[in-house]
Amino acid sequence: MLPEVGFGTYQYRGGVDLLRNAIERGVWLIDSAELYHNEEVVGKAMENLRDRVFVATKTNHWRYDEVLKCAEASLKRLRCDLIDLYQLHWPNAAVPIAETMAAMEALVEGGKVRFIGVSNFTVSEMQEAQRALRKQKIVSNQMRYSLVDRTIERDLLPYCQRNHVTVIAYSPLGSNFRRILESDREDALGKVAKMTTRTKAQVALNWCLCKAGVVVIPKTDSMGHLVENCGSSGWRLSNEQIALLDNGIRHRSRGRWEVALRTCARRTLQSLRRR
Ligand code: NAP
Repeated sequence: MLPEVGFGTYQYRGGVDLLRNAIERGVWLIDSAELYHNEEVVGKAMENLRDRVFVATKTNHWRYDEVLKCAEASLKRLRCDLIDLYQLHWPNAAVPIAETMAAMEALVEGGKVRFIGVSNFTVSEMQEAQRALRKQKIVSNQMRYSLVDRTIERDLLPYCQRNHVTVIAYSPLGSNFRRILESDREDALGKVAKMTTRTKAQVALNWCLCKAGVVVIPKTDSMGHLVENCGSSGWRLSNEQIALLDNGIRHRSRGRWEVALRTCARRTLQSLRRR
């Protein structure tokens, strides 16, 4: 079980107290990464609250020994002895996925990690990663998803829903909420906010939560936004309100060919870099 509203920490500058406040308000899924350089802050925020937090972090390493070493380093920075969700931040075609997944599985078997997740994986990359695991299941895929970025709706989201893989929606406020507001020429958010007596940001987050198996991890440095984001949970937009937002807000949804081409380009670059 996860709270449907978690806390993202990329470029987080809100300090220890705001995070502790979030945990106390029930925002107990905290997402970090070795690349964010803030696991120490998350660790301090969890002091005496560790048993109330589901802590997720990510590695940007793929070699067997490196993954084990990085997990140990993350544990040290997080000041705990178990990572609830350890995610592979990006796929990397330069290292066989079986090698990386064997390390992830060893971490679970060694009691250092509870669940294995991935991030930015396509459906076929997820399938390959899952096949490489002997016993464990990939429980989540962290993907960009918001009113303005809807690429995952075509393949990835239905795949995850069918296979009971949680989608952790990153950048659920579009990275910068202004981006969503500027794509909303007909003020659909304003109209729905009025109907629901919620704020526009709460409506935008709730729109993601209306999809089965999706949780959101907005980042905020502000107490006001934290309280506001908490209010996006525990209720649902109606189908009519969802349709109003779907039709009123301009969004990006990459087609299959574009996704395939981008994936191919990424994989080629990664393989070339290795050479
Ligand atoms: P986001 O959460 O969509 O947006 C963050 C921005 O929205 C900040 O500027 C924040 O400003 C503002 N904001 C927050 N609450 C608001 C509210 N109620 N009203 C108006 N503005 C609000 O973007 P994100 O940080 O890119 O994504 C969230 C998390 O996803 C990250 O922190 C990270 O954990 C994860 N992520 C993962 C990946 C990946 O590759 N796996 C990539 C990107 C992000 P204030 O701070 O001033 O509130």
